[in-house]
Amino acid sequence: MDGAALAARLRQELKHEVAELGHVGLATVLVGDDPASEIYIRYKHRAADEVGIEAIDRRLPTTTPEDELIDLVRELNGDDVVDGILIQTPLPEHIDEARVMRAIDPIKDVDGLHPFSAGQLYLGRQTLVPATPLGVMQLLDEYRIPIAGSRAVVVGRSPLVGKPMALLLLQANATVTICHSRTDDLARHTLDADILVAAVGHPRLITADMVKQGSAVVDVGITRTEAGLVGDVDPSVAEVAAFLTPVPGGVGPMTIAAALGNAVRAARYRSGALVFPRS
Ligand code: NAP
Repeated sequence: MDGAALAARLRQELKHEVAELGHVGLATVLVGDDPASEIYIRYKHRAADEVGIEAIDRRLPTTTPEDELIDLVRELNGDDVVDGILIQTPLPEHIDEARVMRAIDPIKDVDGLHPFSAGQLYLGRQTLVPATPLGVMQLLDEYRIPIAGSRAVVVGRSPLVGKPMALLLLQANATVTICHSRTDDLARHTLDADILVAAVGHPRLITADMVKQGSAVVDVGITRTEAGLVGDVDPSVAEVAAFLTPVPGGVGPMTIAAALGNAVRAARYRSGALVFPRS
């Protein structure tokens, strides 16, 4: 499954939507100087430029106190130019990530990590959903992978990837199993999967003997090694699966396209073109 090609097409579509809306502003917040995070911010800004979204780059030093970061989030909440806010994670250890996410106005929550956004997804009334699982759903749709009635297995249960992925698949009427670090006999579960999503961060954890013949396998994992980026899925899985996402060029570009899509959605909520469910 070619995520790079689909993401390029989605960016073209978003370009038209942004032109129609007139202006979309996306603020990214980076705390510290983690090199991988800097690369991700650069990719997001480049993609935002391409589709005509105004990217607002806010950076704070690693030693920034938590309250100062919260103040910045509140400033962005109140800034009319800003439609969406992305907080690059991981944040430095002294900062409570959950508290920072709670400070974001849910209507601007492009990460989808505010408890309101997560709760809406849990209830099956999604507003803004984390970009990675959203991008995976778009890929499955593009390749017409049947979801309703299928057996889906998600390996990983983080709030950013595994859990929202499982909920989206459940909402699309798959029968979903969630596996994690304490799962006994992982292969017993993965072998049953028509759709297998690996979101672990453990290079080549999923080997060909763990995969059902003819299944669709989505590799979310990214580990930086001396040989380059490595996914959670061993390349030999291509001989067993009918569909497989490459690393790089699979889920990565889809995540960025879906994040931009969320910014456009947030702009529509703010303009009233879409109704945002406030009480
Ligand atoms: P995370 O928060 O570290 O979560 C990893 C999950 O994997 C946890 O739920 C953990 O279980 C589970 N796990 C760890 N070892 C396992 C094992 N041996 N067997 C089964 N499950 C195991 O990571 P994340 O943020 O979800 O990200 C996962 C991976 O996706 C990382 O490589 C990350 O870089 C990548 N990622 C890629 C994109 C993209 O755009 N392509 C976007 C986001 C993330 P416990 O809960 O029991 O600890």
